[in-house]
Amino acid sequence: MEYDIIIVGAGPAGLATGLNLAQSAPDLAQRTLILEREHHPRPKLCAGGVLPGAEVCLRKLGLDMLSAVPSVPVQEMHLRFEGRSVVLRREPACFRVVRREQFDGWLADTARERGLAIQEGTRVLEVCPPNGPRHRAGGDVLDGLVTVRTDRGTYHARAVVGADGALSTVRRAVVSTQAPQVARVLEVRLPAATGARTGRAKRAIFDFSWIPDGVQGYYWDFPSQDGGQAERTWGVYDSRTYRRVRATSLKPVLQGALARAGRSLDQHKLEGHPLRWFRRRGTFAAPHILLAGDAAGTDSLVGEGISFALGYGEVAAEALRAAFADGDFSFSGYRQRIMAHQIGRSMSRRAMGAALLYGLRNRRLLWLLWPLIGWAANRFFVGWDWGAE
Ligand SMILES: Cc1cc2nc3c(=O)[nH]c(=O)nc-3n(C[C@H](O)[C@H](O)[C@H](O)COP(=O)(O)OP(=O)(O)OC[C@H]3O[C@@H](n4cnc5c(N)ncnc54)[C@H](O)[C@@H]3O)c2cc1C
Repeated sequence: MEYDIIIVGAGPAGLATGLNLAQSAPDLAQRTLILEREHHPRPKLCAGGVLPGAEVCLRKLGLDMLSAVPSVPVQEMHLRFEGRSVVLRREPACFRVVRREQFDGWLADTARERGLAIQEGTRVLEVCPPNGPRHRAGGDVLDGLVTVRTDRGTYHARAVVGADGALSTVRRAVVSTQAPQVARVLEVRLPAATGARTGRAKRAIFDFSWIPDGVQGYYWDFPSQDGGQAERTWGVYDSRTYRRVRATSLKPVLQGALARAGRSLDQHKLEGHPLRWFRRRGTFAAPHILLAGDAAGTDSLVGEGISFALGYGEVAAEALRAAFADGDFSFSGYRQRIMAHQIGRSMSRRAMGAALLYGLRNRRLLWLLWPLIGWAANRFFVGWDWGAE
């Protein structure tokens, strides 16, 4: 089976790539196939914080998340370090918290309504670029086309987008050695405490107190909901920006944070997943193959990835449109396209922020600098498209 474009992964990055193609190059979108191993609405481990940059990307596609997906507005972000707190406030919301199965399911439905073909229940096993070693060995390959082997047969395309998340299979066809740019994330969902104060329902906490103990990140406590029932999502993010620092166990950090709030991990499911972060000098493409979203790399400072995945969708769609117009599938300018977009600039700023913040392990110095760090977070990092319309 032959297509112009195959997108691997129907998460935010893959679906945004398809939706942007449907908007800017509808003829190409008709010859595009999206392959997804799961069936929507599928579970995805994520705290579900959707920042304003994501809403801007969605609005450009004529989509209104607010009317389509249940969400909890967060009006206060508390950035904490050992008893010091900087509070960022925004009306109507600093960000919104969604359930990923609902958010991604809605995006997938919208993509189908706009004419995109999504084939679910299909796991991509291997991607072979044209002229790669597997091509030279012969077999089920076609000249000038990428071969995509799946558990439901072999497909061919002139261009393939790897939007298959942090553990990307497509990435293996693009990058020969995997740089260890991977963060660790643990998460648990708990019903909201009965009798919790109303103000708390709109507050998200980011506590960085464990940086001096080797956690290059923070623990979070976000409001959420499940079928209208109030929940809280708790988790720990450890960027591992500095690999030489010994990795500490994250579970006790979460247990300690929960215990201080009078909660316990007992009988609740603790889940973990890696998160691949963005390196300015990383590899994002090979001839005929592009990477997008977590497969390419996302924010290392706080591990935000939904808005960046949607932004990657814009960049990837534009690169595909140009490749088919010019007949040049080298994608040699893809990195420049990423860096020229707000997502590239923002992920670079955040990588710098991560290097500075997680390199500072002096407790006293961090405590003294905390108000300045909070100001910088508000000014430079929180929303990569904060307020843009
Ligand atoms: C615990 C945790 C909490 C997080 N919290 C937040 C948050 O609050 N806010 C935020 O912005 N970001 C958060 N993130 C990051 C965010 O979840 C990701 O950055 C985002 O999902 C990236 O989107 P994506 O489309 O690139 O990848 P994904 O959402 O991972 O989608 C990839 C898709 O590809 C499919 N796939 C994978 N392999 C194959 C294959 N071989 N064949 C076919 N299909 C395949 C998967 O099933 C999936 O549907 C969190 C991450 C973790 C781990």
